[in-house]
Amino acid sequence: MGLFSRIKPKIKLSSSKKDGFNGWAKCPKCHELVHDSELQRTWQLCPKCGHHNRLTATQRIALLADEGSFVELFSSLKPVDPLTFVDTEPYADRIKSAQKRSGRDEAVIVGTCTLKGLKAALGVLDFSFMGGSMGSVVGERLTRLIEYAKQKKLPLIIVSASGGARMQESIFSLMQMAKTSAALAHLHDDGLPYISVLTNPTTGGVTASFAALGDVIIAEPDALIGFAGPRVVEQTIRQKLPPGAQKSEFLLEKGMIDCIVNRHELKDRLYTLIDFFMGNDRTHQDGSARSMEELMAHSEE
Ligand SMILES: [Zn+2]
Repeated sequence: MGLFSRIKPKIKLSSSKKDGFNGWAKCPKCHELVHDSELQRTWQLCPKCGHHNRLTATQRIALLADEGSFVELFSSLKPVDPLTFVDTEPYADRIKSAQKRSGRDEAVIVGTCTLKGLKAALGVLDFSFMGGSMGSVVGERLTRLIEYAKQKKLPLIIVSASGGARMQESIFSLMQMAKTSAALAHLHDDGLPYISVLTNPTTGGVTASFAALGDVIIAEPDALIGFAGPRVVEQTIRQKLPPGAQKSEFLLEKGMIDCIVNRHELKDRLYTLIDFFMGNDRTHQDGSARSMEELMAHSEE
């Protein structure tokens, strides 16, 4: 053993690390330090300022579906590489590493669940899988979910978080916009409700198709929602966008969305809407009809 032996010193170094910065993250909005365990308790809402951090699809389902009620559908459809596309790396490799990183096989999970006892069809996009981008399997799973809802007469909820169409699938990806939209039109013909929930961020071909087609469109607070991102828009029109453009609050004011709902109230609000649209609770106790305005009024806290 010489001077440079690798024998560890007998001082414990691990203790300081354990209660140090491990698990602490800075809130992107208010810059306060928040511990991960606290964020898990609050569904990823900053306890200091209420900033809505992103949820994975699994967390979103846990938030909305009654415990143990979610049954996944159409999971046998797996992503493919129809063009054997290669950019800086092969698309097939990108899929594999996204699967490994996210623990998910695609950017969407679809199925059925109950929501405070009411049965619904639920689709949730996961931004952690290739930016929640819509490839052909994402579009196909959603389309089959919509058709399933029509067939089983279920209300439909889709929660979006997406950078848009998946470039690596080119036209196959763009076709999903028409396909999902057409399926939603058929659902609408049968008088079944579709509630679209937009979360941060919802952009591109997803905004330009199913995400914007809800009978009711709900957004989470301060979510970026748009077609092209703000920088691209500014470069194209050579103008500065007004502050907060493409954020939920701005879009509510301009009428693109119907309401902004805090994550803590999302399940309750979805329940109220489904209950109303499915004709379960359209009247007051005195028999007078409840209006959509009354249902939406809860959102103006
Ligand atoms: Zn904060």
